[in-house]
Amino acid sequence: MSFADLGLMPELLRAVEDAGYTQPTPIQSEAIPVVLSGRDVMGGAQTGTGKTAGFTLPLLQRLAPHANSSTSPARHPVRALVLAPTRELAMQVHESVLTYAKHLPLRATCIYGGVDMRAQMEILRGGVEIVVATPGRLLDHVQQKSIQLNQVQMLVLDEADRMLDMGFIPDIRRILAMLPAKRQSLLFSATFSNEIKKLADQMLNDPQLIEV
Ligand code: AMP
Repeated sequence: MSFADLGLMPELLRAVEDAGYTQPTPIQSEAIPVVLSGRDVMGGAQTGTGKTAGFTLPLLQRLAPHANSSTSPARHPVRALVLAPTRELAMQVHESVLTYAKHLPLRATCIYGGVDMRAQMEILRGGVEIVVATPGRLLDHVQQKSIQLNQVQMLVLDEADRMLDMGFIPDIRRILAMLPAKRQSLLFSATFSNEIKKLADQMLNDPQLIEV
């Protein structure tokens, strides 16, 4: 099984080749076709399995048809939101997005707490399609009206079990309430407690379960 067999577009195959990957990992083989089909996913995977590329590659392909190189910020509404529990994880996911999107005209940024908001506001004002964020700082930006979430078509919740442990679930619920009901949602978690299942019920629509 190759990345091309999974239905990825040439721009993404080139990025994967540039990264030196020769074949997809099990979670990538399973998740990529399902995400490309538009279905919601409940994914059980630890870090180190390649799950980041597993959701990022098809996410980029879903966004790509409407990508444009216009410099007008109004032409770049936020269309994909990836939520991560920590600044470190958010930065890693953002790095992956930049790596895999290198041949596509899509813009991404990373938003996390503990630093001044102004530089983040400046980037958001310029227009980005993909935002990788920690929940608290994202809500700060919503409150400041520096981000609008009403055009989000894809949501990824990464490491949901850690989000739960860190007390982020109320923040996640507030964010969910701001997103369009018609969207594709992906939830990844290393474990599936009852609370994660409850969150999945609220967030996902007829999800495909993928476990590796
Ligand atoms: P992740 O589980 O998403 O944190 O990824 C773990 C590491 O595996 C990252 O450093 C990726 O660059 C690398 N990786 C992801 N997919 C592949 C692949 N198909 N072949 C080789 N390395 C990969």
